[in-house]
Amino acid sequence: MGSEEHQVTTASESLDELRGSLAGSVLGPADAGYDAARRCFNALVDRRPAAIARCAGPADVATAFDFARLHELEVAVRGGGHNPAGHCVLDGGLVIDLSSMRTVEVNEDARIARAAGGATWLDFDAASHAFGLVTPGGVVGSTGVAGLTFGGGIGHLTAQHGLTCDNLVRAEIVAPDGTVLEAAADEDADLLWGLRGGGGNFGVATRLEFRLHPLEGVVGGVLGYGGKGVRDALRRYRDVVARSPRDLSCQAVLAVDESLAPALVVVPSYTGSDADPEDLRALRSAPGLLEDGVRAHSFLDQQRLLDSPYGENRHYWKGHFVRELSDELIDDLLERVVALPRPPGGILIESLHGAPKDADPPAGALGFRAAAFNVSAMATWDRPALDDEHIRWARDTAAALEPWSVSGGYVNYMQADEPIERVRAAFGTEAFDRLQALKRRYDPGNVLRRNQNIPPS
Ligand SMILES: Cc1cc2nc3c(=O)[nH]c(=O)nc-3n(C[C@H](O)[C@H](O)[C@H](O)COP(=O)(O)OP(=O)(O)OC[C@H]3O[C@@H](n4cnc5c(N)ncnc54)[C@H](O)[C@@H]3O)c2cc1C
Repeated sequence: MGSEEHQVTTASESLDELRGSLAGSVLGPADAGYDAARRCFNALVDRRPAAIARCAGPADVATAFDFARLHELEVAVRGGGHNPAGHCVLDGGLVIDLSSMRTVEVNEDARIARAAGGATWLDFDAASHAFGLVTPGGVVGSTGVAGLTFGGGIGHLTAQHGLTCDNLVRAEIVAPDGTVLEAAADEDADLLWGLRGGGGNFGVATRLEFRLHPLEGVVGGVLGYGGKGVRDALRRYRDVVARSPRDLSCQAVLAVDESLAPALVVVPSYTGSDADPEDLRALRSAPGLLEDGVRAHSFLDQQRLLDSPYGENRHYWKGHFVRELSDELIDDLLERVVALPRPPGGILIESLHGAPKDADPPAGALGFRAAAFNVSAMATWDRPALDDEHIRWARDTAAALEPWSVSGGYVNYMQADEPIERVRAAFGTEAFDRLQALKRRYDPGNVLRRNQNIPPS
């Protein structure tokens, strides 16, 4: 038998061994469904793992870690597959895939939701909404609950209820040595702190528990602005959120229209009781308004507004948390958004006003709570031939934000090429040192390094 043939036989025997020891299923390169299972949201990432272990619970995750150790395979962890860096898949290693674990249980009386480790926001929102309850999550339904929470979590209810990780109250974690841990305020509070920001570094979460809040409906939708009014409309958006309305979360996307002129989309999410709130009126009467889709609708309708196709486009995102959105910075962004001879995707501007400022800063490892906005250049394109120019556009746009930066970038949007200094800056030196100590305790061998990595020392 030739050595290549021998390797193939050994690999298939190993896969059979893994199959025999898991309650869930295993996909290898020869299996139907392998290509779909290795696909990421970001089409720029195209990797071929040796095996994908679709785990059914904590015991499967521990078995998968054992298998990886025994066969000296590197490990990646997959939730919703959305991380733009493609951390959920790797060449030649083992993917611990949680996509079969998506149950979400709601305890209406306790106002707590328990999500399995692979649940998506669509799973979560559908389950909690049935009881008129919500937690602030992500704005695209197919994004993973765990992955998003572990980097912070910004969305349509941030001003009202804080970052997603502020609402995480308990988690079940399988550490790389197979130990099953509970993280909660009264049980390993240190680990809970680390999960709120530095999450994927310490183990695989098989259950996450969130605080829920009552919500009847939302006044939301999309406001579209164009023409000469875009500059003033963006200033108006900034001024409205600067008043820090507690019942209005608001995001904006600066992009271009068909004629490649700047266009602005603002997505308000109002949950107050006022029939005609002043802040919404201010946004709806801003210069350049071309489209007014704001109306009363359900939270699930609000959550569908920004859905995005999975695995079709190439993405490269880079940005900064900024202390302010000055007139000067707005002018710069308007110039940069038209700097490519074709639509570059857009510049996402997320406001952090309201409840994120209330949370006790030491309750989580995040370093960006004090920022006013998260501003991200999101290059999105389709053909590989355009890779270089779009990546350059995102990098140049992010570089222009740097003078306004308060804490580096958002780990949830970072690509895999970010230097450790940027990851450290995202947390701040003190929190980063503490995260490294946690890492030494739970993952001293840095088995979980396919993430915005916190090395153990
Ligand atoms: C279209 C789109 C929309 C987005 N919208 C938002 C948004 O509204 N708000 C926001 O804050 N962010 C948003 N993000 C960013 C998103 O939160 C992060 O990219 C996040 O990492 C995605 O998690 P995932 O499980 O989908 O991704 P994956 O690529 O599957 O996982 C990413 C990483 O998260 C960790 N991870 C995932 N699940 C687990 C688990 N169970 N246990 C341990 N570690 C785990 C692992 O380190 C893994 O490598 C969005 C991203 C995209 C592409």
